[in-house]
Amino acid sequence: MGKIKILSEEVANRIAAGEVIERPASVVKECVENSIDACASEIIVTLANGGKDLIQITDNGLGMSEEDAFICFERHATSKIKTVDDITHINTMGFRGEALPSIASISHFQLITKTAEDEVATEISFAGGKLNYMKKTSARTGTTISVKNIFYNIPARRKFLKSEPVEYKHILNYIHYQSILFPHISFKLIHNQKEKLNYPATDSIEKRMLDIFGTSFSKQHYIYLENQINQIGIFGYIQDIEKPEPNFSNDVHYIFVNRRFINDKTIYSAIKNAYEPFLKKYRFFEHGKLPNYILFINIIPEEIDVNVHPAKTEIRLRNAGAVYQYVKQSVLDCLNQAEHNRYNSTKEKISSIPSDTPLTYSEQEIVKDIYKVPSPPEKKTDNVDIIENSLQNLFSFKNDTQEYDKPKSNIESRYQAPTYKEPIHFNQQNFTQYEKLIDINYEPIQIFQMHNTYIFIEVEDGYCVIDQHAAHERINYEKLLKSIEENNPNKQKLLFPLIIDLPKYLAENMFQIINENLEIFNKLGFTIKTFSGNSLAIDEIPSSLSNWDGGDVFLDILKQLQEELTQTKDFRIASAASVACKASIKAGQKLSKREMQELIKELFTCETPFYCPHGRPLIFKMTLNEIEKRFKRIV
Ligand code: ADP
Ligand code: MG
Repeated sequence: MGKIKILSEEVANRIAAGEVIERPASVVKECVENSIDACASEIIVTLANGGKDLIQITDNGLGMSEEDAFICFERHATSKIKTVDDITHINTMGFRGEALPSIASISHFQLITKTAEDEVATEISFAGGKLNYMKKTSARTGTTISVKNIFYNIPARRKFLKSEPVEYKHILNYIHYQSILFPHISFKLIHNQKEKLNYPATDSIEKRMLDIFGTSFSKQHYIYLENQINQIGIFGYIQDIEKPEPNFSNDVHYIFVNRRFINDKTIYSAIKNAYEPFLKKYRFFEHGKLPNYILFINIIPEEIDVNVHPAKTEIRLRNAGAVYQYVKQSVLDCLNQAEHNRYNSTKEKISSIPSDTPLTYSEQEIVKDIYKVPSPPEKKTDNVDIIENSLQNLFSFKNDTQEYDKPKSNIESRYQAPTYKEPIHFNQQNFTQYEKLIDINYEPIQIFQMHNTYIFIEVEDGYCVIDQHAAHERINYEKLLKSIEENNPNKQKLLFPLIIDLPKYLAENMFQIINENLEIFNKLGFTIKTFSGNSLAIDEIPSSLSNWDGGDVFLDILKQLQEELTQTKDFRIASAASVACKASIKAGQKLSKREMQELIKELFTCETPFYCPHGRPLIFKMTLNEIEKRFKRIV
């Protein structure tokens, strides 16, 4: 006789219950979803002892006929799908036809249900999956399901249920997810005979969120996000990092995909990575704590599979990479926009300056001073040493008539020769002429450098302070990443190729790392050949590296790279950050007003203009309001 037997219905149901029903909250989930599918506009959840003793769900939905009320306890009995194709285009919450028989098999279960057409209601009772009785009764249209003593017949599982508050919390969270998704349904939650929640039906998600989170959920703390392309759309709210302390006791990390609450690592890490460059600004978010978000994502059904988890809280994305990119970009754009709005007046002011504006009076004053005491460059090297000498370049004159070239607009030219078409003669008449020009044509912006390190710029409602090195680092970093991505590096050929034997402290692993990543070095702008014995030859370098310094800078970059590689595994990020750091103007370096303007202008064309590549802030704003508070002009 064969050994294989078909399991009895009872055993099969209990096995299914093991997957579908994990805890009281799972029962609430399955029953509430059935109520939603039955078009209920009112759902009442009543609990005792965190749901461990009683879970009762009452709805005013379509109800079931006597016949349906009986058959719904058969396994795979569902009114929601008929064919396999239906699963792809499913609009209902349930479809597996497993919940009711599973729940009935592990509890004392009672169902009372009535349709609008029927005069009388049907009442059915089960214990441990066995039918107790079925009878006619009176009730209003809709369905009430009572589940008592969950897992009473599986002691091992009952024992593993958590404390009353923990089980209650799971249910509470679930009711929150659903009530956000379905604001037009009124939800009531009663626990141990006390009313805990009462959310009346409303017409908008926002109003429902206010009901749930109170005033801590407000425009003040959250930024609205919306983005829509062909196959995917996203909207919702993400926490503003400037306002990190709404009174939530909990993390609110809600992702809904096609109207289901979903746990999805891909989407979670997309949001996390978008936030990352902004987070170091606030201690609050350290230790891996992520700001709150409530995001609704809609993806065309063909692109996802919801049938991968018995409780349908996970999905499989067919094109996870694209969804990751899309979500990350949407969140990043939104956060950037919020930062832009904060610094808008700076940006507007900067972009309103025409790039070939004449020298301002004070600039000419500097020029005049320098002219009196010309300071020749300390050393002349064959390599271009633009940044080091930028100041000298700016004020070293080509000939006696001091005629300048027309401005170049790219950043490389910023540190090269200055840019004025008209010859400047330093006489009083000229000064007055320019003064007039300034007065008539544009209002000069107040911008100055402090300690040759920080740029102060007056804006409409206060002033901004910019860290010049970090700002330039950000600009260079983004450019370098782009040149890696697009493989079109801006290179300069070295007059004398650099041949180096890597010093011992670098040779250990760096030689191998360079060898493995020659292509990325190439995309950055370094043309490198490696030889045996830890030696290499470089004959092209990124144009942004203007202070090549006979090659010392390359060793500095490698040192930095070693450091960066301890922070990230992504070689592109590490190498771009290292080169950016060494290619950027330094703290302590004097900049002309025009250089400062150009720097800020360029900064605001960056993707993330507010943080250096390591996530440290590079700009902050002091408002007039704050200043007035300090002077106790206002309180
Ligand atoms: P599924 O939801 O996957 O179809 P269930 O076991 O949860 O499977 O429910 C089986 C069927 O019972 C449903 O398809 C539905 O027709 C009916 N049903 C369950 N709960 C309700 C309810 N609250 N109101 C009306 N019909 C219900
Ligand atoms: Mg169901």
